[in-house]
Amino acid sequence: MAEEYDLVVLGGGTGGYVAAVRASQLGLKTAIVESGKLGGTCLHKGCIPSKALLRSAEVFKQTKEADSFGIETSEPTLNFFKVQERKQSIIDTLHQGVQGLMKKGKIDVYEGFGRILGPSIFSPSAGTISVELNNGEENPMLIPKNVLVATGSSPRTLPGLDVDEQYVMTSDEALSMQELPNSIVIVGGGVIGIEWASMLADFGVEVTVLEYLDRILPTEDKEVSKEMTRLMKKKGIKIVTGAKVMPETLKKEDGIEIQAERKGENQTYTADRMLVSVGRSPNVKNIGLENTDIETENGAIKTNQYYQTKESHIYAIGDVIGGMQLAHVASHEGIIAVEHMAGENPMPMDMEQVPSCIYSNPEVSSVGLTEEQAKEQGYEVKTGKFSFKAIGKALVQGETDGFVKIVANKENDDLLGVHMVGPHVTDMISEAGLAKVLDATPWEVAHSIHPHPTLSEVMGEAALAVDGKQIHG
Ligand SMILES: Cc1cc2nc3c(=O)[nH]c(=O)nc-3n(C[C@H](O)[C@H](O)[C@H](O)COP(=O)(O)OP(=O)(O)OC[C@H]3O[C@@H](n4cnc5c(N)ncnc54)[C@H](O)[C@@H]3O)c2cc1C
Repeated sequence: MAEEYDLVVLGGGTGGYVAAVRASQLGLKTAIVESGKLGGTCLHKGCIPSKALLRSAEVFKQTKEADSFGIETSEPTLNFFKVQERKQSIIDTLHQGVQGLMKKGKIDVYEGFGRILGPSIFSPSAGTISVELNNGEENPMLIPKNVLVATGSSPRTLPGLDVDEQYVMTSDEALSMQELPNSIVIVGGGVIGIEWASMLADFGVEVTVLEYLDRILPTEDKEVSKEMTRLMKKKGIKIVTGAKVMPETLKKEDGIEIQAERKGENQTYTADRMLVSVGRSPNVKNIGLENTDIETENGAIKTNQYYQTKESHIYAIGDVIGGMQLAHVASHEGIIAVEHMAGENPMPMDMEQVPSCIYSNPEVSSVGLTEEQAKEQGYEVKTGKFSFKAIGKALVQGETDGFVKIVANKENDDLLGVHMVGPHVTDMISEAGLAKVLDATPWEVAHSIHPHPTLSEVMGEAALAVDGKQIHG
């Protein structure tokens, strides 16, 4: 069987399915090949399940603290089975939604593993795609004018810290734990490591984070890392930075024991389980890149600003091209790629306008340059910082930890970066994102009226603070 298409998308994650929807809106005859489940990592093993668990952890913690709001309850108990059930029902609802979008867009879905066979007489530019169907039926051949590779990424582990069924896991296995451990060692203090540390600590697990670098969340502004270290320690999490984990020392018996070298000394850590969160590797294996001229760098597919690979009719987007491995980046890249192949004139993405978020408790978000990056790039900077402690709504909410920090160019007042720690800052960062897109100055941000009492007032105050004009602090 052979079927012709304007576009075949390899991988139905956030990047792939959004691109397919846009392609169908543009009138392209589109197929999507997905070896697992439509929705990909984000829906089944990433953003959504982890946020569902984080929300349960937050409610558990808040219920324990209800007394401080004048609500007296007996000590809450955790039913982790129900927590997992709730997570799964959210995934199922959204999964149905994505399937519905494919039907609505008349997008053909092939459930199987797709491989690029290389240019052929049928498809001299984009290459035929073979699909190994999950149900074992005869493999169809797809003949596309364009291909979009959106095969995503998989958890990386350290040699020697291989995943097993009992003790060592990555976020993939952790998401489907049926029981919580009493204690855990988390290797890696990046975004995923800190989300898990925060969640598990709120569920009552004893958490140790071992981070190789000298601070957790090393891609965030230094002041954000410092504040988050303080706040995570306040939760009872043990944070060990500058810790070089030695996989060869791992022992597993009724739990794990591992050593890490720190300041020239070996220290031993023990726990019931270990979570390895040391990044993700692009999924480039077995997808047929060797049949093409496509180039990779550090394991990720190389593209231009419209996401064309070396083969101009084969595009690649999302986690498989590396960079900021985020769902909203993948989907935006997918839209740009599809519009470009359809002959539109899309605006390339400016990575300095991409917000990134960490859904720990409290949350972290940022857009643009950190103060250190701005200085490294030669800017003379001025900064404004405002704490949630002086924001009425934060007191009302009972969540006063954190701040907003704005980094601006001293020379022309350009907004260079915004960094937030605190309640609901993953929702509030969109204002800063819009300000970046519109090239607003802190003065303009401050003169957009922030309603009272809202958490968003912290943004107006931080913008005023850039020139020392904040009102409440
Ligand atoms: C624990 C965790 C939490 C996260 N939280 C967030 C968050 O809060 N916000 C955020 O923005 N990002 C988050 N991310 C990152 C986010 O999930 C990814 O950036 C996003 O899923 C990337 O989308 P993608 O389409 O590139 O790839 P994926 O979502 O990985 O989708 C790729 C799809 O391709 C399929 N596939 C692979 N190879 C083939 C093949 N040869 N043929 C057919 N199908 C194939 C896979 O089965 C998969 O479904 C999180 C990630 C993890 C692991």
